[in-house]
Amino acid sequence: MYDVIIVGSGPAGMSAALYASRANLKTLLLEKDLPGGQMLNTELIENYVGASSVNAIELASRMSKNSREFGAEYKYGEIESIEKMESGLIKVVAGKKEYEAKAVIVATGTAHKILGVPGELGLSGKGVSYCATCDGAFFQDKEIAVVGGGDSALESALFLTQYGNVHLIHRRKEYRAKPHLQELVKRNPKIKEILSSEVNEIIGSEGKVSEVRIVDKQLLTEKRLSVDGVFVNIGQLPQTKFLDKRILDKEGWVIVDNTYSTEIEGLYAIGDVIQKEVRQVANAVGDGSEVVHYVFQYIQKQNMK
Ligand code: NAP
Repeated sequence: MYDVIIVGSGPAGMSAALYASRANLKTLLLEKDLPGGQMLNTELIENYVGASSVNAIELASRMSKNSREFGAEYKYGEIESIEKMESGLIKVVAGKKEYEAKAVIVATGTAHKILGVPGELGLSGKGVSYCATCDGAFFQDKEIAVVGGGDSALESALFLTQYGNVHLIHRRKEYRAKPHLQELVKRNPKIKEILSSEVNEIIGSEGKVSEVRIVDKQLLTEKRLSVDGVFVNIGQLPQTKFLDKRILDKEGWVIVDNTYSTEIEGLYAIGDVIQKEVRQVANAVGDGSEVVHYVFQYIQKQNMK
């Protein structure tokens, strides 16, 4: 039996594990992937104060090591369910094993969205990718399409110019990404912007991506563009399918109050998975440090009952 179980090993979960174990709470962190979450889809992190420009994998592995230094236990297991029991404890089922804790912190973050166009899933891993830092090197001297207009798409486009020519396809005229990324994109001669346009099919030849079909939404014309790779960076979906629908909004983000508590007593959520405007490593880490303050108070109250 644990005081607290943290689900998810992104920056939010790792920060909570550090703070909880340092507060002498018996802490278990359940992870299903390498530590780092969405950080691992980025090459360099430049906006985490104190770290300067740091390789994301290196920062994630330092966070993981650091978060275990006060005794937090880590176990591998894909989360199946979280259930409040009559005893007041919370049962977590992961990887066919059951765990119990006084409090649970959900920090499962997000997964990438798919475009949902013909050809996309069949050509996934055969030229279609969702992670430029993971797969960019396969596209040396190639033509590469990047789809999306947020920070992730523009960062991917910039990153991929070290390998090939990039065609950045966005469905509107204005990007959603931060202005400095837009500026870098506009100044980069290896990026060709294709705005107000949507990819409506990814076409393959001999089992590999060969073209995308693009619709210009203003001119109402359609064209085919020869590319070797398509990186889809169109946003994120919350990883919450194992949670009670009553604590989710209609898009699946977790609803919490200003103590990170859900409507289920003892169940908390932090990081990218909660309803919020800004999803950054820095505020995920902040959530992790803050939630433990409230979890600690909650556990003390339970212990006094
Ligand atoms: P995002 O900000 O939600 O942007 C998604 C982009 O994809 C939008 O431009 C959207 O178009 C477009 N899009 C969505 N669905 C689409 C569809 N079906 N077809 C075509 N285009 C579609 O997602 P993100 O870029 O993954 O970023 C997620 C969060 O992480 C954000 O809070 C972001 O600031 C943060 N982030 C930060 C950094 C950083 O600070 N360095 C890096 C990466 C991510 P519309 O604009 O028309 O809606």
